[in-house]
Amino acid sequence: MAGKYDSNNIFAKIIRGEIPSKKVYEDAKVLAFHDISHAAPIHVLVVPKGEYISFADFTSKAGAEEIVDFFRKVREIAESLGLSESGYRLITNNGSDASQTVPHFHVHILGGKKLSTHLNQS
Ligand code: AMP
Repeated sequence: MAGKYDSNNIFAKIIRGEIPSKKVYEDAKVLAFHDISHAAPIHVLVVPKGEYISFADFTSKAGAEEIVDFFRKVREIAESLGLSESGYRLITNNGSDASQTVPHFHVHILGGKKLSTHLNQS
């Protein structure tokens, strides 16, 4: 996942509107949409519109304000999905061993049911 940003990755195409998505939020810098293969009753992906490959890429290259704004937006989107009382899980897969499949930084918001307590997934 290191190296040069691939502007043909699927989330770049979604951001450009070249392929459809079920949007839940959009502004100039952030897009959120439902995951096509949901792993929980509510499974939304939040992406910055900037060209960042991964969590590591985003948090090393983006400015402090952009990083704070992004993570605040993740919270606001989780709240707008009605998850603030019941709770939710955030996941970001960073690189190969984490099985990151799309090389555009994204945070998964998972909720809508009691999620498994074990994180020891192989
Ligand atoms: P990750 O494994 O963390 O890179 O997660 C990539 C996620 O993107 C997976 O949960 C996929 O189900 C999801 N995904 C792939 N293609 C699409 C798409 N066209 N629209 C919405 N979600 C997608």
